[in-house]
Amino acid sequence: MFDKILIANRGEIALRIHRACREMGIQTVAVHSTADADAMHVRLADESVCIGPAPSKDSYLNIPAILSAANITGADAIHPGVGFLSENADFAAMVEEHGLVFIGPSPEHISMMGDKVVAKKTAKELGIPVVPGSAGGLTSAEAARQTADEIGYPVLIKAAAGGGGRGMKVARSAAEVEDAYRLARSEAKVAFGNDEVYMERYLGEPRHIEVQLLADGQGGAIHLGERDCSLQRRHQKVLEEALSPALNAAEREAIGERVTAAMKKLGYRSAGTIEFLYENGEFFFIEMNTRLQVEHPISEAITGIDLVREQIRVAAGLPLDLKQKDIKFSGHAIECRINAENPETFIPSPGLVTDYHAPGGLGVRVDSGLYAGYRIPPTYDSLIAKLIVHGQTRNECLMRLRRALEEFVIVGVDTSIPLHQRLIGAQDFINGDYDIHWLEKFVAGKA
Ligand code: ADP
Repeated sequence: MFDKILIANRGEIALRIHRACREMGIQTVAVHSTADADAMHVRLADESVCIGPAPSKDSYLNIPAILSAANITGADAIHPGVGFLSENADFAAMVEEHGLVFIGPSPEHISMMGDKVVAKKTAKELGIPVVPGSAGGLTSAEAARQTADEIGYPVLIKAAAGGGGRGMKVARSAAEVEDAYRLARSEAKVAFGNDEVYMERYLGEPRHIEVQLLADGQGGAIHLGERDCSLQRRHQKVLEEALSPALNAAEREAIGERVTAAMKKLGYRSAGTIEFLYENGEFFFIEMNTRLQVEHPISEAITGIDLVREQIRVAAGLPLDLKQKDIKFSGHAIECRINAENPETFIPSPGLVTDYHAPGGLGVRVDSGLYAGYRIPPTYDSLIAKLIVHGQTRNECLMRLRRALEEFVIVGVDTSIPLHQRLIGAQDFINGDYDIHWLEKFVAGKA
């Protein structure tokens, strides 16, 4: 097992990884930008190294600085966390070339799944159902038009290098295809430096359902059930629940078995998530994330398994010691992503947190690096806390979530807590009756 792990990330996820390391008796090295010198992940780690100025490209994305930090501190492995370098195949390869272990999948699997056109093709070959669409990337506006005519409207044009919901454009008729194609390409070029786009049928009322996987690359693979992440704004997740209120046990088992078999065939190692759209009882693959996800704690809550611990174990070459029959789903869990932003306009609200009190009690977990006196820098993602609540039933979970949100005090900046409070009081949400478009209608006062 590793003696020392460098955590190449910041904020709540860096803390999350630190906690798993601590419980395994592993020393931690935090890295930070000059803007994060006072951050909690830096305070709690055994050692810390400043890797550059505030902008991410100069610090959290600065590969030479991160590798040097690992070298100076004598770390034996690097955990990339979520975002930043976590899905950068070149980084994973460089970590290995420097004689360190990358806590994640092989660089080959990262790049395979990072290109969504290749990922879709691979998924199809592995027997995973995909959204009907173009056979590969679109080469011209004319080709886009032809493909759309074949698939049928509406269609969605998506960036091959996509992520975070960017570079996606809907075309509802033939007249809209060319504009959508050009816009998606230019957005993709700006966001990802790669303007390849592809096309899918645009599903009208799907849910976003994703399956959590764990595999050891040595023939061992299991799934930890699904998460329902349909509550989204601008294709970004806001609140997630596990298990999904929309699936029955037979559907869960069937899709779980199918993706587990696919991961075995692929020889995949580490945690991973396969994302689907689910409509009328059918699953359609949209992408695979070859990393930990922000919403992983709800799967931990219902299974009692520490996903970061398992990632570390398999990265160290140990086989998974969990079998599918060991996975028992217990109760229901919900995560609220709490952002520093105005709950109505969604404008980011960085600044000084003057007072802070986190909720507690049975079934309540808060993953956050906040404290009173902390100044939220304007430079990074606005996610400042995750509230994860577990109950024996969905109803108990909802009641507990309501009281936990009431207890949560964050003063000095605007947060999305009031949005979550409104949302969990909505009848459609209470009934579990929502699709990926519901939240935007709700926010606009139309649901
Ligand atoms: P990203 O990597 O940018 O997050 P995804 O492919 O995961 O992109 O899609 C993000 C979200 O966009 C999905 O959760 C869903 O809400 C919506 N979406 C993606 N593909 C489709 C589709 N074919 N039809 C309808 N909505 C879609």
